[in-house]
Amino acid sequence: MKELTVGIDIGGTNTKFGIVDRQGNVHHQGSIATTDYEDFKDFFDGMADALREAIHNTVSGSKVVGIGVGAANGNYYTGTIDQATNLKWKEELPLAKMFTEEFGIPCVLTNDANAAAVGEMVYGNAKGMKDFVVITLGTGLGSGFVCNGTLLNGKHGIAGEVGHTSVNPTGRYCNCGKRGCLETYVSATGIKRTVYKLLADHLEPSELRGISFDNLNTKMITEAAMRGDVVAKAAFEYTGRILGMKLSETVVHTDPEAIFLFGGLSQAGDLIFKPTIRHMEANLMPLFRGKVKILPSALQNQAAPILGASSLVWDYLDKKKHHLATA
Ligand SMILES: [Zn+2]
Repeated sequence: MKELTVGIDIGGTNTKFGIVDRQGNVHHQGSIATTDYEDFKDFFDGMADALREAIHNTVSGSKVVGIGVGAANGNYYTGTIDQATNLKWKEELPLAKMFTEEFGIPCVLTNDANAAAVGEMVYGNAKGMKDFVVITLGTGLGSGFVCNGTLLNGKHGIAGEVGHTSVNPTGRYCNCGKRGCLETYVSATGIKRTVYKLLADHLEPSELRGISFDNLNTKMITEAAMRGDVVAKAAFEYTGRILGMKLSETVVHTDPEAIFLFGGLSQAGDLIFKPTIRHMEANLMPLFRGKVKILPSALQNQAAPILGASSLVWDYLDKKKHHLATA
């Protein structure tokens, strides 16, 4: 019987889900509006109903063997979402336990960047790699570390928050309460802040002048840079420099084979990859030079968060099998 997994990506606006096979083919996709539910219990019931229907409609001659969930502030150890800033429910949300009880199959939950890292290992460009890092460049900057073939969770399930390490102790204010965090410079929001600073510093004409902060987005900055806009080009160079310098330090901790860039900003291609690679290499401890690849994620499509979440189940089942075989 063909085995399938469910992947669920809980976002502040929408919760997307899909039913996925071992090769990463998505057989069914759906979503519910996260914001429609005042009560967490109602949200869970809505999600469970949608899933039951999806499973009923998709699965003939196959069975669903587990549920993977990716969410901001998702904790792998406890299976809970804790104090997520993008959700209105501030209590500890025991989602993994609730799904397991409801459907009678294992549920693995972690934060969205960790899910992206496992997704890259199971379906993407990190297949066969044992040591790598995934940097997700969205509204903020997330990161997931895989060491010796295993996702790094740490003592409290919150390992690898590179986005909140410092690049400038007296720098920009960050949502986390600190100052100068990497994500205040390197993220969709970070590059907008950089563009605004550069517009203030430079006298050259720029097509980005006159666009309000709220209307400005990564795509506009990318397209302007491709047309040769001085400020947009300088913004990418600056962003790549900060990211490259930070990655030259990140590398030292776990000695990865590769670092994958995922998400909106990474789709700017050479504009972000070239300065990142150049500044990482220039700042690397000599022992590491020329050894660490910076690569694009293979999961750059709409279904990426669902794939990441569903991959958690395959990884969990593989490790369980391995554990039983060697016990
Ligand atoms: Zn921070």
